[in-house]
Amino acid sequence: MDTTAVDVDVLVVGAGITGIYQLHRAREAGFSALLLEAGSGVGGTWYWNRYPGARFDSESYTYGYLFSDELFREWEWQEHFAGQPEIERYLNHVVDKFDLRRDMRFDAAVTSAVWDDATGTWHVTVADGARCRGRFLVAATGVLSVPYTPDIPGRDDFGGVQHHTGLWPADPVDFTGKRVAVVGTSSSGVQVVPTVLDDVASLTVYQRTANWCTPLNNRPITADEQQELRANFEALRETLNTSLSGFAHPVNARAGADASPAERRAMFEELWNSPGFMKLTSNYYDLLFNDQVNDEWCAFIAEKIRGIVRDPDTAERLIPKDHRFGGKRPPFVNGYFEAFNDPKVSLVDLRETPITRVTATGIETTDGLREFDIIVWATGFDFGTGALNRMGIRGRDGLALSDHWADGPTTFLGLQTRGFPNFFFPGGPHAAAGNNPRYNGDLVDIVTDTLLYARDHGFDVIEVSAEAEERWTRMVDKGAAVTTFGTVGQYVGSNIPGKPRRYLLNTGGRLKLFEISADVVANDYRAYEMSKAPAASDLPPPKGSETAQI
Ligand SMILES: Cc1cc2nc3c(=O)[nH]c(=O)nc-3n(C[C@H](O)[C@H](O)[C@H](O)COP(=O)(O)OP(=O)(O)OC[C@H]3O[C@@H](n4cnc5c(N)ncnc54)[C@H](O)[C@@H]3O)c2cc1C
Repeated sequence: MDTTAVDVDVLVVGAGITGIYQLHRAREAGFSALLLEAGSGVGGTWYWNRYPGARFDSESYTYGYLFSDELFREWEWQEHFAGQPEIERYLNHVVDKFDLRRDMRFDAAVTSAVWDDATGTWHVTVADGARCRGRFLVAATGVLSVPYTPDIPGRDDFGGVQHHTGLWPADPVDFTGKRVAVVGTSSSGVQVVPTVLDDVASLTVYQRTANWCTPLNNRPITADEQQELRANFEALRETLNTSLSGFAHPVNARAGADASPAERRAMFEELWNSPGFMKLTSNYYDLLFNDQVNDEWCAFIAEKIRGIVRDPDTAERLIPKDHRFGGKRPPFVNGYFEAFNDPKVSLVDLRETPITRVTATGIETTDGLREFDIIVWATGFDFGTGALNRMGIRGRDGLALSDHWADGPTTFLGLQTRGFPNFFFPGGPHAAAGNNPRYNGDLVDIVTDTLLYARDHGFDVIEVSAEAEERWTRMVDKGAAVTTFGTVGQYVGSNIPGKPRRYLLNTGGRLKLFEISADVVANDYRAYEMSKAPAASDLPPPKGSETAQI
């Protein structure tokens, strides 16, 4: 990064879909702003996850931005569920269209962000030593941006090629004729397997937890559908801006318990053939509350798996036994189960034969050594708090965020935490599951409205009240005690050894976010304590986006 230190009103960290929108909104509102990004380009998730098969499981046109009618009309997504290259192109297009790149700095990993009480500003340092200062710090650092690779002995000794899916190189990896291991069978691993299948000499899939995978049912968007999307844009935007899941899927008003077995069977068949997340969002509304309905849906999927996978032992291993549908984030697949009918593919169940070490030539389990040319680590992320806890954030009195959250995060709206004034984290912990950009967009709008309120009322320090934070956190924790969604794995931190087991999503969902954020506005922002900074800082006036030296 340019070593010239800069001062701005709003420092945004992260050039994913959330940070890009935050930069746009901040500039549009007349704040000077600068965005810092660790990577060398735009895209966040879609910059780092270039692995073979990486693609949406949200419908493309429901994932993209909705703030610009013109943008929506001019960008023609090619597939209902776009692949990584198309998504990365889209996000670059947005950045260029709205001239955002001039306020972005790449290869700029923030290593420290320290609150200065005297001036009411954040002092930020980047890995290369460059420094900047911002009145407000908005960390749009993502929930899935810190890849996790298990600490297996000998990993560095491997002599072949090895990559984590979340840190995949820009230069394509050649799988032709290679002996390949894919470790991990969640959303990323199950996308890699069928994509590289034709090229490889052999493919060994290492599974710790079987997942309830169902078909993505992707296809190209036809010319008629393109036209329809444009003609119905306003209605689609309204649906997406109000839908609780952030998807445009019709909600099923019927309880599975009220349907006959034959009706449920027909419904499940319909869902199996439906696109992506509809299997969750348009399923019987009691799917996640009624174990009997969920068990029947799981039995239906299990039957499908047995029907696809010819080897009965492999089929049984691929059927989850330790959680119901929704207990973990369900992956969506295209040819994953079918891949196991190829004699080149084998499944290693790590519950039966755990990995003992990686050697120079391969992976050793309690069952012996298998040799590989390529190892794909599809082993997930340090979800929710991973990036924030690693950013060197220190609030009032030098309090480190990682200490403050040692037992898990406490937040207001999944956006602010007390002791860290003028610090916001849209799309971080206590954000909702569902179609991410919709919920994260709500949060960016809330941040921007709050900054505007403060500016209009002559305040430059914003801190959430203890009561507001406590109430929100209590709501999340109470919901966590009864929810059946995401109770296994990343959403509770159980995929990372030593991480506190704390529910990391907003259990009240988008509905609660709408309710409480409307209440904040109606009550004149009383959830926040706002003040003037004790000492006037020499920040430039909040106009334009030019940066100044300090
Ligand atoms: C493979 C994959 C597929 C997914 N598919 C979907 C999907 O179909 N639908 C859906 O809703 N969600 C999906 N998600 C979730 C996805 O993360 C979100 O949809 C969305 O990309 C989050 O955007 P973001 O801008 O909040 O964070 P990110 O896209 O993660 O961007 C955060 C950025 O912050 C940067 N950063 C972090 N720390 C620092 C630091 N200290 N200094 C500087 N920069 C930093 C990172 O480098 C990164 O570029 C998927 C996730 C993955 C991993």
